Amino acid sequence: MSTEPHLEPLPDLGGPAQPLLAVSNLTKHFPIGGGLFAEKKTVRAVDDVSFAIGKGETVGIVGESGCGKSTTARLLMHLMPRTAGEILFDGQVVGHSMSMKEFRRGMQMVFQDSYASLNPRLTIEDSIAFGPKVHGVADGEARVLARELMGKVGLRPEVFAARYPHEVSGGQRQRVNIARALALKPRLVILDEAVSALDKSVEAQVLNLLGDLKREFGLTYLFISHDLNVVRYISDRVLVMYLGQVVEIGPVDHVWDAPAHPYTRALLAAMPTLDPDRRTQAPPITGDPPNPIDPPSGCRFHTRCAFAEDVCGKVGPALSPAGGGSHLAACHMVIPGSGHSRAPAAGVAA
Ligand code: SF4
Repeated sequence: MSTEPHLEPLPDLGGPAQPLLAVSNLTKHFPIGGGLFAEKKTVRAVDDVSFAIGKGETVGIVGESGCGKSTTARLLMHLMPRTAGEILFDGQVVGHSMSMKEFRRGMQMVFQDSYASLNPRLTIEDSIAFGPKVHGVADGEARVLARELMGKVGLRPEVFAARYPHEVSGGQRQRVNIARALALKPRLVILDEAVSALDKSVEAQVLNLLGDLKREFGLTYLFISHDLNVVRYISDRVLVMYLGQVVEIGPVDHVWDAPAHPYTRALLAAMPTLDPDRRTQAPPITGDPPNPIDPPSGCRFHTRCAFAEDVCGKVGPALSPAGGGSHLAACHMVIPGSGHSRAPAAGVAA
């Protein structure tokens, strides 16, 4: 018998001023090695990451592969234990003031691999109805909801309900995954490279769909992608990660128009463009990303930065105001009196 016939979204507890997600000092270190004669080492996948996502916002995370963006997503979802840090969902601590079951309803994730995310033995209708049934919704009601959501994501139930994942295209499968995530009435959806495997035309359709669903259901998104064009299109604010740390964060237009961190500038310069006047001649970043097992001292970007000076290898720059508003960058060039020759004088904001 159904104990909770209707799934309602979790209530808004703190009002609009309270972030939906507040992350402080999030850290994930993976110990590796440590055999009989081998030295034990640590991969610093995510190191002291702090940020907040406001209600109704879309925040993008960008960075090269291995920068820690997907590990951050998994930590936020509590899919792996964290080494340190705190995650608050609408002011609630998961496992204390909020149960893991409630949290799982409040925050859902859509992954890049649309096929691996679905059970190949379940029809599309069963896949979407599965989550609500686990949360106590009766079978018939869960199926009605599944069919409704199929309509919302542009899949006609009479055509797709009885199909299996291998019988639909990649774009259609990703629509199923989005419907499946929405079936629990989440407030926050993490989209981890969710459109990266799709053809460009399908990608555009799915991005438009995400925009429509956000408006209809009052959702908040965390959108992780290596594709800066897509991130600019969908995000209100963007967070740039390098070697497990946040190096720049701010409103997407500010960051695009006036990137303050040399790494962000390099990423933007490396974006493909059709404009012949904007083609880059020289590679924007030299060298490979350093090994996260033994990251460089001080600013982790100093081994590849054209502006690196002595202070950069010695002192790690904190995220600091860069260009006004909520735009922050972790670079000695924006920190007054940091000791970098391009820094503003002490007492003068960047
Ligand atoms: Fe470059 Fe120094 Fe700024 Fe790091 S702190 S990005 S090395 S200038």
